[in-house]
Amino acid sequence: MGNIIKAVCQCGLESGEIYQGIGFRYFENGIRIEPAYCGDCGIIVGRDMSKSFSKCPQCRKKVKFYKEDVEESEIEKELGLATDDYLPEKEQWLCPRCKRETLGSEFMGMWD
Ligand SMILES: [Zn+2]
Ligand SMILES: [Zn+2]
Repeated sequence: MGNIIKAVCQCGLESGEIYQGIGFRYFENGIRIEPAYCGDCGIIVGRDMSKSFSKCPQCRKKVKFYKEDVEESEIEKELGLATDDYLPEKEQWLCPRCKRETLGSEFMGMWD
């Protein structure tokens, strides 16, 4: 379950569709897809946050999750589950290509 989102920046950067959220087998496999970026390649990809090391598909270096930059609330920490609502809370995100905070997220739909 989750949102289908797409990251777009004025500089022309556009991510593919990212299936953000948790799968129906989340409580078995803990897979949680979140948008992440590689500053070297200037790309944004959906990656499994439950893994300790998520690689960039191009250079194989570690990607950085946008979620890491967001402070989680106490309730989220207690439950061990974070909300999916952090993206709309902030309008502009760091663009891995032009390195400015001009990246927006577009809501494409829902998946389940
Ligand atoms: Zn890379
Ligand atoms: Zn940009």
